Amino acid sequence: MTWEMVIGLEVHCELASATKLFCGCRNAFGDEPNTNICPICLGLPGSLPVLNAQAVELAMRIGTALHCEIRPSSFARKNYFYPDQAKDYQISQYDEPLNAGGWLELPDGFRVGVTRAHMEEDTGKLTHVGEGGRINSAHHALVDYNRSGVPLVEIVSEPDMRSSAQARDYAAELRGILMATGASDGRMEEGSMRVDANVSLRPAGTTAFGTRCEIKNLNSLRSLGRAIEYEAARQMALLESGERVDQETRHWDEAAGRTEPMRSKEEANDYRYFPEPDLVPLVPDAAWQERVRAAMGPMPADRRAALSALFGDTALGAQADQIRAVVDLGLDTMVEQAVGAGVPAALALARAANELAAEGDRGRALPIGSFVTLVEMEAKGELSATQAKAVLRAAVADVERDPRQLAREMGFEALGADTLATAVADVIAAHPDEWARYMSGEDKLAGYFINEVMTATANKANGKEVAAELRRLRD
Ligand code: ADP
Ligand code: MG
Ligand code: ZN
Repeated sequence: MTWEMVIGLEVHCELASATKLFCGCRNAFGDEPNTNICPICLGLPGSLPVLNAQAVELAMRIGTALHCEIRPSSFARKNYFYPDQAKDYQISQYDEPLNAGGWLELPDGFRVGVTRAHMEEDTGKLTHVGEGGRINSAHHALVDYNRSGVPLVEIVSEPDMRSSAQARDYAAELRGILMATGASDGRMEEGSMRVDANVSLRPAGTTAFGTRCEIKNLNSLRSLGRAIEYEAARQMALLESGERVDQETRHWDEAAGRTEPMRSKEEANDYRYFPEPDLVPLVPDAAWQERVRAAMGPMPADRRAALSALFGDTALGAQADQIRAVVDLGLDTMVEQAVGAGVPAALALARAANELAAEGDRGRALPIGSFVTLVEMEAKGELSATQAKAVLRAAVADVERDPRQLAREMGFEALGADTLATAVADVIAAHPDEWARYMSGEDKLAGYFINEVMTATANKANGKEVAAELRRLRD
């Protein structure tokens, strides 16, 4: 029998707001544990939540980018006991989510339905201390409430995806959208974006859904793909041997490369949701929605289209991949400006998609002007490809430095008259006392300056020319 995979994803996104969802505590990753806390996010008796307008706005941006309807909504208490949540309930949205009924288009044009994108608060973080770091082998647990009350949006997809590749594409595109809206930094490894995958199988050609399992907390695209593949194979083995799949929540063990049961449907909590009595309904009016929409920049799909347009009809396979990578990394403005300055598009794109991308966050911090200068120098033949890549690495390592100067120091640039004059002037500026002595007749200091210029230019300068330049400046 041939089986078809059915996949729906639930993605939790931490919003990049300055403060938490219901209090004024700092929303920051990596601070000293239990320093960003107060009676509200600790749920102390008598404290009252106050909704954070910036977080609502970021959530509305997400809804808008996902083509959702932004609706009158309300908050509810999701009741359960767990030590990562001091007040024994989590404030979430339940039957009235802020955003509903949207879609996300994958780069190949396939549309995945978005059921809802609702707001809720994050829980604290438990660390299990002991061998393996897992709960079963722990001596004790530490709890950090800094994350408790951090605003989240949970984006629930329709069960529209049919392969692990499609699920990865969806998560990657969603990550790009979350970053483009400014709602999130998209850092999966820091938990800013966490993915749960629901997976089921059905005989190919049939329409009824099979029983699903939910795999929790996948924190990289690679884990997402591997976990889905493993889970589909596990379910297929069960179904082919005549057994049934039990609906359950499973955990992905990255090191072992398999999913393991966490809890069955029978063990599932009954959360006893009820309306949060301390918060009024959230009803964003049309004017607010319009302001949010107007403040949003272009989404990744628009930015890919803009970049592709620089290639006319010739953006072929490899270039399409490069365009995707460059937009994902937010390097598209660099490429566009370089092309605007007259650099061939393919060269600018290649340097951004390969060399700059390889530098990660540091690559993004390179000033646009430095990038443009660099590819211009390469395009004009002032630098070979190998030299250009080396200078690019150096420019990324020290973003304050001018690439021309770096190229000179690395000995990659033929010294023209202008460059030589600049090098001499730089050395003079750096040694004002020696220069004063030379000017007042201490001729032997010419040798000193020639040496300095030679060092500064990695021996590219012609000593006689330097001497002539020094005399010209003195006379
Ligand atoms: P819950 O409230 O238990 O999380 P939902 O109905 O909200 O359940 O569905 C959660 C996710 O599971 C959604 O992303 C949905 O698309 C997906 N899903 C639902 N049914 C299936 C199925 N049979 N196979 C795969 N995914 C499914
Ligand atoms: Mg759910
Ligand atoms: Zn607080």
